[in-house]
Amino acid sequence: MIYSIQRYCIHDGNGIRTTVFFKGCQLHCPWCANPESQEPSVQIGYLEHKCSDCGKCEQICPKHAIQNHRIDHQLCDCCGRCVYYCPQEALQIYGEEYSVEQLVQELLRDRIFYEQSGGGVTFSGGEATFQAEYLLKTASALQEKGIHTALESNGLFSSQMCNRLSQTIDQFLIDLKHMDDSHHKKILGVSNQMILQNLHALSDKDLTIRLPVIPGFNDNEANLRQTARFARHLNVPLQLLGFHNMGTSKYHALGLSYDYESIPSMSISQLEEKKEICRQEWKCIL
Ligand code: SF4
Ligand code: SF4
Ligand code: SF4
Repeated sequence: MIYSIQRYCIHDGNGIRTTVFFKGCQLHCPWCANPESQEPSVQIGYLEHKCSDCGKCEQICPKHAIQNHRIDHQLCDCCGRCVYYCPQEALQIYGEEYSVEQLVQELLRDRIFYEQSGGGVTFSGGEATFQAEYLLKTASALQEKGIHTALESNGLFSSQMCNRLSQTIDQFLIDLKHMDDSHHKKILGVSNQMILQNLHALSDKDLTIRLPVIPGFNDNEANLRQTARFARHLNVPLQLLGFHNMGTSKYHALGLSYDYESIPSMSISQLEEKKEICRQEWKCIL
């Protein structure tokens, strides 16, 4: 189950890449910018700013799941009729099933860009390892075709899976959200130990540790320094990604509340300050 395929990406690994966004994630990070990525099943969203109030969706819904532009997600079976008939593209389906063969064919369309730029395919999400067997099959099919593969991940997978991934994935971009285990558990509901172990295990591969800098959660000096020291210990680069609230409209589209809606996106200079702290400990890439 895939919810987006984005082409010409330049921040998701080496060269020019096509990034595949898998649906489903074990975590529900309260700051997540992609709420449509968390549920493994198809979802439907309503984009109020595009709606012309024509009422067609209400009339054609076989489940009577739409009333006053509110979608009753208990009644809706995501048949897609309203999306098809909406004249304003104000309704959107998140999620589409691809077989491994279909996905590989789609990704091979951009082969020329991979070859010319030293790029390839990046698996992202959600959490791509949430659909682990599908991910591994797709990655090895691409590997057989000589395509470079990268994985953006929250790092929550077993050591056996880590071993299998290291045989099929060329580049790893793994999040490390907090060094303090009790704080990690408190906010995310899971320990960071598995992530730390996987980072250790992958440290002899092409690995970058990513720290999504979240105001009030992990942006304090102690955590920044500790994370940078951990990256130094593993001898792998650290990359800081600034918080942004651009996912707000997608929370609204899905009828969900967003705790970080009123938290301003981090400016370049604010992020630079955090990077400077890390750079005092270790190399911090753009
Ligand atoms: S069909 Fe589209 S534009 Fe018309 S009311 Fe429904 S969402 Fe709005
Ligand atoms: S996707 Fe189908 S069931 Fe769901 S609201 Fe639209 S028309 Fe109704
Ligand atoms: S790990 Fe990533 S995709 Fe999953 S909930 Fe957290 S921010 Fe969202």
